[in-house]
Amino acid sequence: MSKLVIVGTVAFDAIETPFGKTDKILGGAATYIGLSASQFNVNSAVVSVVGGDFPSEYIDLLSNRNIDTSKLEIVKEGKTFFWSGKYHNDMNSRDTLATELNVLENFNPVVPNDYKNAEVVMLGNLHPSVQQSVLDQMETKPKLVVLDTMNFWMDVALPELHSVIKNVDVITINDEEARQLTGEYSLVVAAQKIHEMGPKYVVIKKGEHGALLFHNDDIFYAPALPLKEVFDPTGAGDTFAGGFSGYLAKTEDYSFENMKNALIYGSTLASFCVEKFGTERMLTLKEDEVNQRLQQFKNLTQFDITLKNEN
Ligand code: AMP
Repeated sequence: MSKLVIVGTVAFDAIETPFGKTDKILGGAATYIGLSASQFNVNSAVVSVVGGDFPSEYIDLLSNRNIDTSKLEIVKEGKTFFWSGKYHNDMNSRDTLATELNVLENFNPVVPNDYKNAEVVMLGNLHPSVQQSVLDQMETKPKLVVLDTMNFWMDVALPELHSVIKNVDVITINDEEARQLTGEYSLVVAAQKIHEMGPKYVVIKKGEHGALLFHNDDIFYAPALPLKEVFDPTGAGDTFAGGFSGYLAKTEDYSFENMKNALIYGSTLASFCVEKFGTERMLTLKEDEVNQRLQQFKNLTQFDITLKNEN
């Protein structure tokens, strides 16, 4: 089993959806990625920063799941990163109401010594210079580097984002962000342009419409499971990234064929995340529930058809 380094925000979120509103709750890209990847019992470490206002019980939620939090820095006199968002009625789009970087503003990430040879690095959403600094600290070249980002960093740190994108194998990005990054409407053309920026594999997430995996001319599609209950899509993209990278770390097979399964795992785990507010659903998720849903996925997408020329 490979080791997995996770970088990303550990945050307070305040969320509003058509179904309700929360005060500051546990959130952050690295939190969702870590919880999701922990489904595979991989050895993982979270590299991030929080303020003195961050409850230690929240850190315990991660460390109790075999996630190394020794390099989750606590800046006692600082405030934790805060994000607030409001979803539209379709739940597929949202407005960011606040992004307060706080302790993230002066963050120097430190990779734990025994993770400097990790095979898989998941560069979750935060400043692209921090993502690059984590890569620079790796003592052996990782077998797989996955990067997730969002429009906020395209707006405030585009040159730094371009620099780090050059150095990754896989990028996961949503459709709107892929269009912003490339200026292309067609996602096929956008994926081609992103290939040219560096990543050999491009995953474009389309919310309730699933996700696409591009590798040169090969394309694979995973739908999102049609769900009865969608309360809060926050963290779905990060949960997807955690499932994707966690599965690849577990199986140690970084081929396009195996990435198809990683995409299905990512989509399956994300389908749980949206059922409750914040991290609530991921904190109670059991292995047999995941298996049942994988079966549902198979039933939804498998069919046996005979082509005319096969008769
Ligand atoms: P997602 O819904 O997958 O895009 O992830 C939402 C999570 O990302 C929330 O828990 C936020 O705390 C976190 N987040 C929001 N904006 C940013 C940002 N600019 N950089 C890093 N993390 C962010």
